[in-house]
Amino acid sequence: MGWKNLDDMDLGGKCVLVRVDINVPVEDGKVTDDTRIRRVQPTIRDILAAGGRPILLAHFGRPKGKVVPEMSLRPLVPALEAAFGAPVTFCADCRGPAAQAAVDSLAEGAILLLENTRFHAGEEKNNAGLAAEMAELGDIYCNDAFSAAHRAHASTEGLARLLPACAGRLMQAELEALESALGQPQRPVVAVVGGAKVSTKLELLGNLVERVDHLVIGGGMANTFLAAQGIDVGKSLCEHEMTGTAREILVKAETTGCKILLPSDVVVAREFKAGAENETVAADACPADAMILDAGPETVARVAEVMEGAKTLIWNGPMGAFEIAPFDAATNAAAKQAAALTKAGQLITVAGGGDTVAALNQAGAAADFTYISTAGGAFLEWMEGKTLPGVAALTPQA
Ligand code: ADP
Ligand code: MG
Repeated sequence: MGWKNLDDMDLGGKCVLVRVDINVPVEDGKVTDDTRIRRVQPTIRDILAAGGRPILLAHFGRPKGKVVPEMSLRPLVPALEAAFGAPVTFCADCRGPAAQAAVDSLAEGAILLLENTRFHAGEEKNNAGLAAEMAELGDIYCNDAFSAAHRAHASTEGLARLLPACAGRLMQAELEALESALGQPQRPVVAVVGGAKVSTKLELLGNLVERVDHLVIGGGMANTFLAAQGIDVGKSLCEHEMTGTAREILVKAETTGCKILLPSDVVVAREFKAGAENETVAADACPADAMILDAGPETVARVAEVMEGAKTLIWNGPMGAFEIAPFDAATNAAAKQAAALTKAGQLITVAGGGDTVAALNQAGAAADFTYISTAGGAFLEWMEGKTLPGVAALTPQA
Protein backbone atom coordinates (compact mmCIF):
# COMPACT_ATOMS: atom_id res chain seq x y z
CA MET A 1 0.00 0.00 0.00
CA GLY A 2 3.06 2.22 0.32
CA TRP A 3 2.13 4.45 3.23
CA LYS A 4 3.67 4.38 6.69
CA ASN A 5 1.94 4.09 10.04
CA LEU A 6 2.93 5.25 13.51
CA ASP A 7 5.08 2.14 14.09
CA ASP A 8 7.36 3.22 11.24
CA MET A 9 8.09 6.63 12.77
CA ASP A 10 10.58 7.69 15.42
CA LEU A 11 8.22 9.69 17.64
CA GLY A 12 10.30 10.23 20.79
CA GLY A 13 10.47 13.93 21.66
CA LYS A 14 8.97 14.87 18.29
CA CYS A 15 6.19 17.35 17.61
CA VAL A 16 3.62 15.36 15.65
CA LEU A 17 1.08 17.35 13.65
CA VAL A 18 -2.00 15.13 13.68
CA ARG A 19 -4.81 15.91 11.23
CA VAL A 20 -8.01 14.69 12.85
CA ASP A 21 -11.71 14.82 12.07
CA ILE A 22 -13.42 16.08 15.20
CA ASN A 23 -16.28 17.76 13.39
CA VAL A 24 -18.70 16.71 16.14
CA PRO A 25 -22.18 18.04 16.86
CA VAL A 26 -22.20 20.77 19.52
CA GLU A 27 -25.26 22.22 21.24
CA ASP A 28 -25.10 25.08 23.75
CA GLY A 29 -21.32 24.79 23.84
CA LYS A 30 -21.39 21.07 24.70
CA VAL A 31 -20.43 18.11 22.53
CA THR A 32 -23.55 15.97 22.09
CA ASP A 33 -21.89 13.01 20.34
CA ASP A 34 -18.17 12.40 20.87
CA THR A 35 -17.86 9.35 18.57
CA ARG A 36 -15.44 11.06 16.22
CA ILE A 37 -13.28 12.23 19.12
CA ARG A 38 -13.14 8.77 20.66
CA ARG A 39 -12.06 7.24 17.36
CA VAL A 40 -8.91 9.37 17.37
CA GLN A 41 -7.95 8.19 20.86
CA PRO A 42 -5.72 5.24 19.78
CA THR A 43 -3.54 7.58 17.72
CA ILE A 44 -3.14 10.08 20.54
CA ARG A 45 -2.49 7.28 23.02
CA ASP A 46 0.25 5.75 20.86
CA ILE A 47 1.96 9.07 20.12
CA LEU A 48 2.02 9.96 23.82
CA ALA A 49 3.23 6.47 24.76
CA ALA A 50 6.14 6.82 22.33
CA GLY A 51 7.10 10.17 23.89
CA GLY A 52 5.74 12.29 21.05
CA ARG A 53 3.89 15.60 21.38
CA PRO A 54 0.53 15.55 19.61
CA ILE A 55 -0.52 18.82 17.95
CA LEU A 56 -4.01 18.56 16.56
CA LEU A 57 -5.09 20.15 13.30
CA ALA A 58 -8.76 20.00 12.38
CA HIS A 59 -11.56 21.76 10.57
CA PHE A 60 -14.92 22.55 12.13
CA GLY A 61 -17.98 23.48 10.11
CA ARG A 62 -17.71 25.64 7.02
CA PRO A 63 -16.36 29.07 7.99
CA LYS A 64 -15.20 29.57 4.39
CA GLY A 65 -11.80 31.10 5.09
CA LYS A 66 -12.93 33.58 7.74
CA VAL A 67 -12.76 33.61 11.52
CA VAL A 68 -16.26 32.66 12.66
CA PRO A 69 -16.33 32.56 16.47
CA GLU A 70 -19.23 30.06 16.52
CA MET A 71 -16.99 27.64 14.62
CA SER A 72 -14.08 27.77 17.04
CA LEU A 73 -12.70 24.43 18.21
CA ARG A 74 -12.15 25.79 21.72
CA PRO A 75 -15.40 24.40 23.19
CA LEU A 76 -14.22 20.90 22.30
CA VAL A 77 -11.35 20.99 24.80
CA PRO A 78 -13.23 19.35 27.72
CA ALA A 79 -14.53 16.55 25.48
CA LEU A 80 -11.01 15.94 24.14
CA GLU A 81 -9.56 15.84 27.65
CA ALA A 82 -12.23 13.35 28.73
CA ALA A 83 -11.64 11.11 25.71
CA PHE A 84 -7.84 11.24 25.77
CA GLY A 85 -7.35 11.28 29.54
CA ALA A 86 -4.70 13.99 29.17
CA PRO A 87 -4.56 17.78 29.42
CA VAL A 88 -5.39 19.66 26.23
CA THR A 89 -4.22 23.21 25.65
CA PHE A 90 -5.70 25.41 22.94
CA CYS A 91 -4.23 28.01 20.61
CA ALA A 92 -6.42 30.40 18.66
CA ASP A 93 -4.48 30.01 15.41
CA CYS A 94 -3.20 27.00 13.49
CA ARG A 95 -0.09 28.80 12.21
CA GLY A 96 2.23 31.70 13.02
CA PRO A 97 3.94 33.02 16.17
CA ALA A 98 1.12 32.27 18.62
CA ALA A 99 0.93 28.66 17.45
CA GLN A 100 4.72 28.37 17.61
CA ALA A 101 4.73 29.69 21.17
CA ALA A 102 2.03 27.19 22.14
CA VAL A 103 4.05 24.35 20.61
CA ASP A 104 7.21 25.49 22.44
CA SER A 105 5.47 25.59 25.80
CA LEU A 106 3.57 22.30 25.39
CA ALA A 107 4.16 20.17 28.47
CA GLU A 108 5.17 16.55 28.16
CA GLY A 109 2.14 14.27 28.14
CA ALA A 110 -0.14 17.11 27.06
CA ILE A 111 -1.89 17.70 23.77
CA LEU A 112 -2.17 20.93 21.82
CA LEU A 113 -5.32 21.73 19.86
CA LEU A 114 -4.91 24.38 17.17
CA GLU A 115 -7.80 26.49 15.94
CA ASN A 116 -10.02 25.57 12.97
CA THR A 117 -7.81 25.27 9.87
CA ARG A 118 -10.66 26.59 7.72
CA PHE A 119 -10.40 30.01 9.40
CA HIS A 120 -7.67 30.53 6.79
CA ALA A 121 -8.74 30.80 3.15
CA GLY A 122 -5.59 28.92 2.16
CA GLU A 123 -6.82 25.69 3.78
CA GLU A 124 -9.42 24.75 1.20
CA LYS A 125 -7.26 26.17 -1.62
CA ASN A 126 -4.38 23.92 -0.55
CA ASN A 127 -2.23 27.03 -0.37
CA ALA A 128 1.48 26.18 -0.31
CA GLY A 129 2.30 29.09 2.02
CA LEU A 130 -0.21 27.99 4.64
CA ALA A 131 0.99 24.38 4.41
CA ALA A 132 4.59 25.57 4.90
CA GLU A 133 3.61 27.64 7.94
CA MET A 134 1.89 24.65 9.52
CA ALA A 135 4.86 22.41 8.66
CA GLU A 136 7.14 24.74 10.67
CA LEU A 137 5.25 23.74 13.83
CA GLY A 138 6.11 20.05 13.70
CA ASP A 139 8.64 17.34 12.90
CA ILE A 140 6.24 14.65 11.72
CA TYR A 141 2.84 14.69 10.02
CA CYS A 142 0.25 12.08 10.89
CA ASN A 143 -3.07 11.98 9.04
CA ASP A 144 -5.87 10.35 11.01
CA ALA A 145 -8.72 11.98 9.11
CA PHE A 146 -9.66 9.51 6.40
CA SER A 147 -13.05 11.20 6.22
CA ALA A 148 -11.34 14.38 4.98
CA ALA A 149 -8.90 12.58 2.68
CA HIS A 150 -11.02 13.07 -0.45
CA ARG A 151 -10.27 16.79 -0.26
CA ALA A 152 -6.89 18.22 -1.28
CA HIS A 153 -6.59 20.86 1.43
CA ALA A 154 -3.47 22.39 2.99
CA SER A 155 -3.82 20.33 6.18
CA THR A 156 -4.69 17.07 4.39
CA GLU A 157 -2.51 17.19 1.28
CA GLY A 158 0.00 20.04 1.00
CA LEU A 159 1.32 19.58 4.53
CA ALA A 160 1.73 15.82 4.07
CA ARG A 161 4.28 16.46 1.34
CA LEU A 162 6.43 18.73 3.52
CA LEU A 163 7.17 16.47 6.50
CA PRO A 164 7.84 12.77 7.07
CA ALA A 165 4.25 11.53 6.90
CA CYS A 166 2.27 8.58 8.17
CA ALA A 167 -1.26 7.35 8.72
CA GLY A 168 -2.79 7.43 12.18
CA ARG A 169 -4.50 4.39 13.67
CA LEU A 170 -7.99 5.26 12.44
CA MET A 171 -6.75 6.04 8.94
CA GLN A 172 -4.72 2.84 9.01
CA ALA A 173 -7.71 0.73 10.08
CA GLU A 174 -9.88 2.35 7.42
CA LEU A 175 -7.33 1.82 4.64
CA GLU A 176 -6.67 -1.78 5.65
CA ALA A 177 -10.39 -2.55 5.79
CA LEU A 178 -11.11 -0.99 2.43
CA GLU A 179 -8.10 -2.67 0.87
CA SER A 180 -9.31 -6.04 2.14
CA ALA A 181 -12.77 -5.37 0.68
CA LEU A 182 -11.96 -3.95 -2.74
CA GLY A 183 -8.19 -3.89 -3.27
CA GLN A 184 -7.09 -7.51 -2.89
CA PRO A 185 -10.29 -9.10 -1.63
CA GLN A 186 -10.98 -12.74 -0.94
CA ARG A 187 -13.46 -13.83 -3.60
CA PRO A 188 -16.27 -14.15 -4.30
CA VAL A 189 -17.03 -10.53 -3.44
CA VAL A 190 -20.61 -9.36 -3.12
CA ALA A 191 -21.58 -5.70 -3.04
CA VAL A 192 -24.93 -4.54 -1.73
CA VAL A 193 -25.86 -1.11 -3.02
CA GLY A 194 -29.12 0.52 -2.07
CA GLY A 195 -30.41 3.90 -1.09
CA ALA A 196 -32.56 6.42 -2.76
CA LYS A 197 -31.12 7.30 -6.12
CA VAL A 198 -29.07 5.91 -8.97
CA SER A 199 -27.87 9.42 -9.87
CA THR A 200 -25.87 9.83 -6.65
CA LYS A 201 -24.25 6.41 -7.00
CA LEU A 202 -23.55 6.08 -10.70
CA GLU A 203 -19.78 6.08 -10.45
CA LEU A 204 -20.01 3.67 -7.56
CA LEU A 205 -22.08 1.19 -9.56
CA GLY A 206 -19.78 1.63 -12.56
CA ASN A 207 -16.70 0.80 -10.50
CA LEU A 208 -18.30 -2.08 -8.62
CA VAL A 209 -19.45 -3.97 -11.73
CA GLU A 210 -15.79 -4.11 -12.72
CA ARG A 211 -14.57 -5.36 -9.38
CA VAL A 212 -17.15 -7.52 -7.65
CA ASP A 213 -18.61 -10.91 -8.49
CA HIS A 214 -22.16 -10.17 -7.35
CA LEU A 215 -23.90 -6.82 -7.19
CA VAL A 216 -27.12 -6.66 -5.20
CA ILE A 217 -29.12 -3.57 -6.11
CA GLY A 218 -31.80 -2.60 -3.61
CA GLY A 219 -33.60 0.43 -2.23
CA GLY A 220 -35.16 3.14 -4.32
CA MET A 221 -32.47 2.84 -6.97
CA ALA A 222 -33.59 -0.70 -7.76
CA ASN A 223 -36.85 0.82 -9.01
CA THR A 224 -34.96 2.65 -11.73
CA PHE A 225 -33.38 -0.65 -12.80
CA LEU A 226 -36.80 -2.33 -12.83
CA ALA A 227 -38.17 0.54 -14.93
CA ALA A 228 -35.19 0.13 -17.26
CA GLN A 229 -36.44 -3.38 -17.95
CA GLY A 230 -39.84 -2.03 -18.94
CA ILE A 231 -41.48 -2.75 -15.58
CA ASP A 232 -44.16 -0.32 -14.37
CA VAL A 233 -43.17 0.76 -10.85
CA GLY A 234 -46.32 2.78 -10.16
CA LYS A 235 -45.77 5.70 -7.79
CA SER A 236 -42.40 4.40 -6.56
CA LEU A 237 -39.39 6.64 -6.21
CA CYS A 238 -37.82 6.24 -9.65
CA GLU A 239 -35.50 8.30 -11.82
CA HIS A 240 -37.06 7.70 -15.21
CA GLU A 241 -34.41 9.83 -16.90
CA MET A 242 -31.76 7.43 -15.60
CA THR A 243 -33.16 4.24 -17.14
CA GLY A 244 -30.73 4.45 -20.07
CA THR A 245 -27.83 4.65 -17.63
CA ALA A 246 -29.22 1.73 -15.64
CA ARG A 247 -29.37 -0.34 -18.85
CA GLU A 248 -25.75 0.55 -19.61
CA ILE A 249 -24.72 -0.73 -16.18
CA LEU A 250 -26.58 -3.99 -16.79
CA VAL A 251 -24.81 -4.39 -20.15
CA LYS A 252 -21.42 -3.59 -18.65
CA ALA A 253 -22.03 -6.21 -15.95
CA GLU A 254 -22.51 -8.83 -18.65
CA THR A 255 -19.13 -8.06 -20.16
CA THR A 256 -17.33 -8.07 -16.80
CA GLY A 257 -19.08 -11.20 -15.57
CA CYS A 258 -20.61 -9.45 -12.57
CA LYS A 259 -23.91 -11.04 -11.62
CA ILE A 260 -26.56 -8.47 -10.82
CA LEU A 261 -29.29 -9.30 -8.36
CA LEU A 262 -32.41 -7.14 -8.53
CA PRO A 263 -35.50 -7.57 -6.36
CA SER A 264 -37.82 -10.31 -7.60
CA ASP A 265 -40.48 -9.45 -5.05
CA VAL A 266 -41.23 -6.16 -3.34
CA VAL A 267 -43.24 -4.69 -0.47
CA VAL A 268 -45.62 -2.00 -1.67
CA ALA A 269 -47.77 0.58 0.14
CA ARG A 270 -49.91 3.56 -0.72
CA GLU A 271 -48.48 5.82 1.98
CA PHE A 272 -44.92 6.61 3.03
CA LYS A 273 -45.49 6.25 6.75
CA ALA A 274 -44.77 3.88 9.60
CA GLY A 275 -47.13 0.95 9.77
CA ALA A 276 -48.74 1.80 6.43
CA GLU A 277 -50.95 -0.96 5.07
CA ASN A 278 -48.76 -2.98 2.73
CA GLU A 279 -48.53 -6.11 0.63
CA THR A 280 -45.80 -8.20 -0.97
CA VAL A 281 -46.05 -8.61 -4.73
CA ALA A 282 -43.82 -9.76 -7.59
CA ALA A 283 -41.38 -7.06 -8.69
CA ASP A 284 -43.29 -6.58 -11.95
CA ALA A 285 -46.67 -6.30 -10.24
CA CYS A 286 -46.56 -2.99 -8.35
CA PRO A 287 -50.08 -1.52 -8.51
CA ALA A 288 -50.28 1.78 -10.39
CA ASP A 289 -51.28 3.71 -7.24
CA ALA A 290 -48.69 2.11 -4.92
CA MET A 291 -44.99 2.51 -4.27
CA ILE A 292 -42.22 0.02 -3.64
CA LEU A 293 -40.75 0.63 -0.19
CA ASP A 294 -38.78 -2.54 0.47
CA ALA A 295 -37.51 -5.77 -1.03
CA GLY A 296 -39.62 -8.86 -0.35
CA PRO A 297 -38.76 -12.12 1.50
CA GLU A 298 -37.94 -14.04 -1.68
CA THR A 299 -35.37 -11.37 -2.61
CA VAL A 300 -33.96 -11.48 0.91
CA ALA A 301 -33.56 -15.27 0.59
CA ARG A 302 -31.70 -14.85 -2.72
CA VAL A 303 -29.42 -12.24 -1.17
CA ALA A 304 -28.79 -14.59 1.77
CA GLU A 305 -27.81 -17.36 -0.63
CA VAL A 306 -25.30 -15.11 -2.41
CA MET A 307 -23.84 -14.07 0.97
CA GLU A 308 -23.51 -17.73 2.01
CA GLY A 309 -21.28 -18.38 -0.98
CA ALA A 310 -19.23 -15.17 -0.66
CA LYS A 311 -16.02 -14.42 1.23
CA THR A 312 -16.24 -10.62 1.19
CA LEU A 313 -19.18 -8.23 1.43
CA ILE A 314 -19.17 -4.50 0.85
CA TRP A 315 -22.34 -2.57 1.60
CA ASN A 316 -23.57 0.95 0.92
CA GLY A 317 -27.20 1.98 0.97
CA PRO A 318 -30.21 0.40 2.69
CA MET A 319 -32.38 -2.14 0.84
CA GLY A 320 -35.56 -0.22 1.60
CA ALA A 321 -37.06 2.76 3.38
CA PHE A 322 -35.53 1.48 6.62
CA GLU A 323 -36.50 4.54 8.69
CA ILE A 324 -40.13 3.43 8.80
CA ALA A 325 -41.27 -0.01 9.95
CA PRO A 326 -42.06 -2.47 8.51
CA PHE A 327 -40.09 -1.29 5.46
CA ASP A 328 -36.85 -1.98 7.33
CA ALA A 329 -37.41 -5.75 7.11
CA ALA A 330 -35.17 -6.58 4.12
CA THR A 331 -32.36 -4.33 5.37
CA ASN A 332 -32.60 -5.85 8.85
CA ALA A 333 -32.66 -9.43 7.62
CA ALA A 334 -29.73 -8.95 5.25
CA ALA A 335 -27.77 -7.08 7.93
CA LYS A 336 -28.37 -9.82 10.52
CA GLN A 337 -27.36 -12.50 8.03
CA ALA A 338 -24.14 -10.63 7.16
CA ALA A 339 -23.38 -10.16 10.86
CA ALA A 340 -23.93 -13.85 11.61
CA LEU A 341 -21.67 -14.96 8.74
CA THR A 342 -19.01 -12.51 9.93
CA LYS A 343 -19.23 -13.88 13.46
CA ALA A 344 -18.87 -17.40 12.09
CA GLY A 345 -15.64 -16.34 10.37
CA GLN A 346 -17.12 -16.99 6.94
CA LEU A 347 -17.40 -13.46 5.61
CA ILE A 348 -15.42 -10.21 5.73
CA THR A 349 -17.96 -7.37 5.94
CA VAL A 350 -17.26 -3.71 5.28
CA ALA A 351 -19.98 -1.08 5.23
CA GLY A 352 -20.22 2.69 5.04
CA GLY A 353 -22.55 5.59 4.35
CA GLY A 354 -24.55 7.76 6.74
CA ASP A 355 -27.88 6.00 6.37
CA THR A 356 -26.24 2.60 6.02
CA VAL A 357 -24.47 2.93 9.36
CA ALA A 358 -27.76 4.05 10.94
CA ALA A 359 -29.58 1.09 9.39
CA LEU A 360 -26.96 -1.44 10.54
CA ASN A 361 -27.07 0.01 14.04
CA GLN A 362 -30.84 -0.19 14.03
CA ALA A 363 -30.61 -3.84 12.97
CA GLY A 364 -28.19 -4.51 15.83
CA ALA A 365 -25.69 -5.80 13.26
CA ALA A 366 -23.03 -3.10 13.24
CA ALA A 367 -20.93 -4.50 16.10
CA ASP A 368 -20.39 -7.80 14.30
CA PHE A 369 -19.34 -6.28 10.99
CA THR A 370 -15.63 -6.49 10.25
CA TYR A 371 -15.45 -2.76 9.65
CA ILE A 372 -17.90 0.11 9.60
CA SER A 373 -16.63 3.22 7.90
CA THR A 374 -17.91 6.52 9.23
CA ALA A 375 -16.08 8.44 6.54
CA GLY A 376 -19.06 9.34 4.35
CA GLY A 377 -17.89 11.10 1.18
CA ALA A 378 -14.35 9.71 1.37
CA PHE A 379 -15.70 6.16 1.71
CA LEU A 380 -17.91 6.63 -1.33
CA GLU A 381 -15.10 8.07 -3.41
CA TRP A 382 -12.88 5.16 -2.46
CA MET A 383 -15.64 2.76 -3.50
CA GLU A 384 -15.91 4.68 -6.76
CA GLY A 385 -12.28 3.77 -7.41
CA LYS A 386 -10.95 7.30 -7.04
CA THR A 387 -7.54 8.20 -5.68
CA LEU A 388 -7.97 10.19 -2.49
CA PRO A 389 -5.52 13.13 -2.41
CA GLY A 390 -4.98 12.84 1.34
CA VAL A 391 -4.04 9.17 0.99
CA ALA A 392 -1.94 9.70 -2.13
CA ALA A 393 0.06 12.38 -0.29
CA LEU A 394 1.04 9.81 2.36
CA THR A 395 2.57 7.61 -0.30
CA PRO A 396 6.04 8.88 -1.17
CA GLN A 397 6.69 9.20 -4.89
CA ALA A 398 9.31 6.94 -6.44
P1 ADP B 1 -26.22 6.25 2.52
O1 ADP B 1 -26.44 7.50 3.34
O2 ADP B 1 -25.92 5.07 3.39
O3 ADP B 1 -25.20 6.44 1.42
P2 ADP B 1 -28.48 6.81 0.84
O4 ADP B 1 -28.53 8.20 1.37
O5 ADP B 1 -28.07 6.62 -0.56
O6 ADP B 1 -27.61 5.88 1.80
O7 ADP B 1 -29.92 6.15 0.93
C1 ADP B 1 -30.71 6.12 2.08
C2 ADP B 1 -32.12 6.52 1.80
O8 ADP B 1 -32.73 5.74 0.79
C3 ADP B 1 -32.97 6.37 3.02
O9 ADP B 1 -33.47 7.63 3.40
C4 ADP B 1 -34.09 5.42 2.58
O10 ADP B 1 -35.34 5.76 3.13
C5 ADP B 1 -34.10 5.63 1.10
N1 ADP B 1 -34.75 4.51 0.42
C6 ADP B 1 -34.35 3.23 0.36
N2 ADP B 1 -35.24 2.49 -0.32
C7 ADP B 1 -36.23 3.30 -0.71
C8 ADP B 1 -37.44 3.13 -1.46
N3 ADP B 1 -37.78 1.95 -1.94
N4 ADP B 1 -38.21 4.22 -1.67
C9 ADP B 1 -37.85 5.41 -1.18
N5 ADP B 1 -36.73 5.65 -0.47
C10 ADP B 1 -35.92 4.61 -0.24
MG1 MG C 1 -27.61 9.26 2.95
